[in-house]
Amino acid sequence: MTRYHSPMNPPTTRFAPSPSGFLHLGNVRTALFSLLAALPAGRFLVRIEDTDQDRSGAQFEAALLADLAWLGFGPYFEKEAVWRQSERTAIYDDYLDRLRHEDLIYPCFCSETELAQERAAMRARQEPPRYAGRCAALAPAHAEARLAAGEPAVWRFRVPAADEVVFTDLVRGPQRIQTRLIGDFVVRRANGAAVFFFANALDDALAGVTVVLRGEDHLSNTARQILLLRALGLAPPQYGHLPLVLNESGTPLSKRDGAGSLAALREEGFLPLAIVNYLARLGATVDSDALLSIPELAQVFDYHRIGHAPAHFDREQLRHWQRLAMAQAPLTSLRPWAGARVPAVDIDRFLAAARPNALFPADLARWADILYGPDPALDGPAQAAVAEAGHEFFARAAAFLAAGGEAPELPAALKGAGYGGRRLFHGLRAGLTGCLSGPELKDILSLMPRALVVRRLMRFGANDA
Ligand code: GLU
Repeated sequence: MTRYHSPMNPPTTRFAPSPSGFLHLGNVRTALFSLLAALPAGRFLVRIEDTDQDRSGAQFEAALLADLAWLGFGPYFEKEAVWRQSERTAIYDDYLDRLRHEDLIYPCFCSETELAQERAAMRARQEPPRYAGRCAALAPAHAEARLAAGEPAVWRFRVPAADEVVFTDLVRGPQRIQTRLIGDFVVRRANGAAVFFFANALDDALAGVTVVLRGEDHLSNTARQILLLRALGLAPPQYGHLPLVLNESGTPLSKRDGAGSLAALREEGFLPLAIVNYLARLGATVDSDALLSIPELAQVFDYHRIGHAPAHFDREQLRHWQRLAMAQAPLTSLRPWAGARVPAVDIDRFLAAARPNALFPADLARWADILYGPDPALDGPAQAAVAEAGHEFFARAAAFLAAGGEAPELPAALKGAGYGGRRLFHGLRAGLTGCLSGPELKDILSLMPRALVVRRLMRFGANDA
């Protein structure tokens, strides 16, 4: 296990989603890794990055908090300590004003057209496009006069020339960025609002975040964020950038397409622990093939074992973890799925019998219907099995029960009457459940109400059946 913090100084991490859509598996993996990095002794914070009001929605914020709770992350973060950036604009203004008083930012009056021309000229010279600094040298009195006259201006940060920003990314290793390639960048828009990455870096520093794990689409912000924090005399966190998660057709997951959204997977019946175990291994190596709890995953979590290549969402792998999660779920957690049909005294016995045939909780409800509900229609193979068994077989079975025989004794009784093998077992199973797969026959016979067993077998016992 690699930790960059001693046990005396455990990390503070955070998950900082923008509420612009439903969480997808890439977001959830970021949240999970951030949580795992904080456990057992550190802090895990959640912050809502809703500065872009046009794209943010209260329904998305509620949904993402509900998603985190459903995943089992609830006990690990304080709901009352969730920061909402839209409520913190006065703080961003305050820090921007500090930069202004120290002349670390300056107003820029360049028009969009001028900027576009400048960028085009740089590209033509094969230089990376950046702001060349035209307004950096405006005389302060001149700039103030233009501001006072109401001329619109953005505010740019004075990037130190001929310097470099060096940091070690927890996932991608050493990074070195020449400041001359960055150019003075905008930190405050013409409408006075702080830009996203300013609020983001400031909030991390003010919250005491020491480790930021996030998608690699934010790597390009990092050098600028480090420069800003240094200018404010605040300690930058350690950053780690996670490769993107691609969907099955190879394009990055997006909050705006439903596929790969957590909501869709939850709807399908995937269990939280299956998703958590799958994601812990998506593009990362975990030294255990077992289904682990969140604290157990935290013990084996290691920044160094996160790969650099994009990770592909693989539904088969997710189903593998779902199988394990279903098999190991406490029976009590599955009880709601048995539905009202299963008699209370039989619920756990029913769940234990049906669970090996259930990939999703809804499959349990289906088996409750089959074993306790209306007589199921027979599928093709079941019809063939019933025909092969023959009506005499069913007539004998029904007669045995009518004479007071117990349902679980049926196979032995029919064996005694000369029936055996596939004809016996498939016949009973098909007649009782309408299909050839499912829970053990002995469990079916001991769980199903006797009257139902009699009725279903009688259906095929008459000569004209
Ligand atoms: N709000 C950003 C996003 O949802 C996260 C930025 C970060 O984690 O630093 O992509």
